Amino acid sequence: MPDKLPVNIKEMREKNVDIEACADCKSMCCYDLVMEIDAPRSEKDLATLKWYLHFKHSFIFIYKNIWYHLVRSECRYLDTNTYLCTNYKDRSSKCRDHMPPKCERYEKWYDILFDDQRKLENYVYGKKLIKTKKKN
Ligand code: SF4
Ligand code: SF4
Repeated sequence: MPDKLPVNIKEMREKNVDIEACADCKSMCCYDLVMEIDAPRSEKDLATLKWYLHFKHSFIFIYKNIWYHLVRSECRYLDTNTYLCTNYKDRSSKCRDHMPPKCERYEKWYDILFDDQRKLENYVYGKKLIKTKKKN
């Protein structure tokens, strides 16, 4: 996505978006499905998280010691021409409660981001979250 909005879209958004700080944003938050998950405590847990990382749009991150699964995919209600919500009245409370400055545009939202199963495995064993490596 280019960084800046076309002037006509920006002007239109300034008239339609409730929160001023969102007006010139391409609704970055509508491209992120984020779910809190448990830190891995067993080989089975780790295997599941490694599997999540097989998929191109899937990531795991840690922020303030909480683990999350992130899926990068636009919401099916996002109008990708205007970046406006087409489901505004019925949007989730997750959407309603998400606002600047506590959002991906205005603050760093992860301490560690994993996009590769080996990096995750190294982290988990390095931090001794799982003590023994499974023998095949
Ligand atoms: S909450 Fe943040 S990421 Fe979402 S539209 Fe507003 S400024 Fe953009
Ligand atoms: S429902 Fe609307 S506000 Fe919520 S993620 Fe989808 S497009 Fe964005």
